[in-house]
Amino acid sequence: MNINFKGKRALVRVDFNVPVDKQFRITDDTRIQAALPTLRHILKEGGSIILMSHFGRPDEKLLPDGSIDYGRFTMKHLIPHLSEVLGVEVKFCEETTGEKASTMSAALLPGEVLMLENTRFHKEEKKGDVEFAKKLASLGDVYVNDAFGTAHRAHASTTTVAQYFDRDHKCFGYLMDAEVRNGSKVLKNPARPYVAIVGGAKVSDKILLLEKLLDSVDTLIIGGGMAYTFSKAMGGNIGTSLLESDRLETAVAIIKKAREKGVELLLPVDNVVADGFSNEANQKIAAMGEIPEGWMGLDIGPESIKTFTEAILESKTILWNGPMGVFEFSNFAKGTNAIADAVVRATSNGAFSLIGGGDSASAINKAGKADEVSFVSTGGGAMLEFLEGKELPGVKAILD
Ligand code: AMP
Repeated sequence: MNINFKGKRALVRVDFNVPVDKQFRITDDTRIQAALPTLRHILKEGGSIILMSHFGRPDEKLLPDGSIDYGRFTMKHLIPHLSEVLGVEVKFCEETTGEKASTMSAALLPGEVLMLENTRFHKEEKKGDVEFAKKLASLGDVYVNDAFGTAHRAHASTTTVAQYFDRDHKCFGYLMDAEVRNGSKVLKNPARPYVAIVGGAKVSDKILLLEKLLDSVDTLIIGGGMAYTFSKAMGGNIGTSLLESDRLETAVAIIKKAREKGVELLLPVDNVVADGFSNEANQKIAAMGEIPEGWMGLDIGPESIKTFTEAILESKTILWNGPMGVFEFSNFAKGTNAIADAVVRATSNGAFSLIGGGDSASAINKAGKADEVSFVSTGGGAMLEFLEGKELPGVKAILD
């Protein structure tokens, strides 16, 4: 953050969209913790902070009469916890923009923090509305974006607002900067060999990623539910495994492109199959393409683990997006955990490893190994789009 914050009011976009229970107690404060280094830096430098964030989906979960459920989605719920972890009493403004927001922002002294009300209480936010953004911009002297999780959205507080600050008066926060830097490492000149491991439920969610990866990786590992659409496309029997029958041609095209590009494509050679979608289901090992009727693949098998592990250990750059099976069921988490182990081992041997995407991030966290890989992205959809090679509006707005 190359701005001198002394005496400045910093308008900071954070992603405090944290999960809460019925009493509005925060059940996972990872996103708040992730923003603390940026906030502490600004305060230490002698600046003050005006925080903006969205929280939940107030615009989609309306009350029966069609109005916004202010009581449920107010940022006020987060103030006590935020004050506690930041060690500063955070003030709250029940407006996002307006007279009160202006007065409270203007009155901030160095070291003070003000949280504005939920940006999504205004329909202008998602529209990227210019007038709304201008009002937000008027509250601060400088703009800091540390909300990587929403950087793929051209919203008023993430993107439009930045146009009212010149290059010397806007910057990424530490979290956003780390996401962009680490994402760029795999996008531009990755050390070779470069392996990408893509898993998860659906081919359809990851088509663009797979296609983009085929232009740069040496090895592409495909696991998880999406592997069965590939198996089916190659004429295999997949029993009742996950299938996207409208994506069979896509799978064939990806296999063909891999061949043309000289990319080694590794699909599971065996699976842990179950006679039901449950942790307690009976299980056995079945070769890929030979899954009996009435059985479904819920994890990769031991031979696949071996092959995938070898490829990972030979690599210098590793990108992992999506679990190898239904890792939420402990009896079908072995494949995903084994991949996590392999990525950790490769990292300790000097490889650069990036874990991108919500579910692989929770898998590595669940395995307790988040500290043993190079970087775990906090931005599921945003990192996916970044790795697909798209220009994220929130990133571009700071660099423009
Ligand atoms: P994604 O969000 O696309 O990364 O998908 C993650 C989800 O895929 C997780 O909830 C997994 O349980 C699910 N998944 C992974 N493998 C399978 C599989 N073989 N069958 C069904 N679901 C799976």
